[in-house]
Amino acid sequence: MAEFKDKVVLVTGGSRGIGKAITGLFKSEDATVIVTYKNSIDEEYFNSKNIFYFKCDVADMKSVQEITDKILKKHSAIDVLVNNAGITKDGLLMRMSEEDWDNVLDTNLKGVFNMTKAVSRSMMTRRYGKIINITSVVGITGNAGQANYVASKAGVIGFTKSVAKELASRNININAVAPGFIETEMTGKLSEEVRKSYMNSIPLKRFGSGEEVARTVKFLASDDSAYITGQTVCVDGGIVMQ
Ligand code: NAP
Repeated sequence: MAEFKDKVVLVTGGSRGIGKAITGLFKSEDATVIVTYKNSIDEEYFNSKNIFYFKCDVADMKSVQEITDKILKKHSAIDVLVNNAGITKDGLLMRMSEEDWDNVLDTNLKGVFNMTKAVSRSMMTRRYGKIINITSVVGITGNAGQANYVASKAGVIGFTKSVAKELASRNININAVAPGFIETEMTGKLSEEVRKSYMNSIPLKRFGSGEEVARTVKFLASDDSAYITGQTVCVDGGIVMQ
């Protein structure tokens, strides 16, 4: 219980879905949790003495720099960064617009670059940090109709490995978590037919919960995983077996 008590945890896209579950878990561990969002936030839900929230588009480096400077001024450190913010704009390649490609890559991949760059400098100085990037199993397997999303998530896995090698000597661990099908608004958009066909491909025969992803994130943010870096952990009911 005490491990996260004096820790500052920053969760991007923590206002909904998996990010909200991650925020809730760290809050219950008494961490100071900083949540970012893009559009709106349920202020009543997040009104708590150890939660702070900021509007910040992760795709916008200027906004990321301003917010991280503000956080570091107030809290003096960010111990854990969870790069969770992500979007989908699905479509077959032949119908995918340049705008949909750019939006997804800018949020899901450039956003991870922006946040990691802005936060890791202070982690390097302190010689302590845990970075967890939320990717997806489709970043490993590929998925028809999601070329933009899959490219962004595969990019996050490659980014994680490279930066793990760069930051290891500064005692910073960076890992990725690849959820499978998790019950959130993102998967709520799927038709019953698509849900059924996905369900057939899941050995454990159920969708996962945000809390199950959050518990893996917590493990990777803890010192129990101090000897793990550059890895991608699938939380997917067995879809991908590496
Ligand atoms: P979600 O319910 O749609 O929530 C997305 C969150 O990201 C929201 O808080 C949203 O803020 C925020 N966000 C979106 N664009 C942003 C931007 N440019 N800057 C800052 N914040 C932004 O999504 P989710 O299903 O929880 O997914 C969370 C992560 O898990 C994503 O990276 C997703 O790719 C990954 N994932 C999800 C599943 C799944 O089954 N759900 C599976 C594999 C991977 P607003 O509310 O303000 O828009």
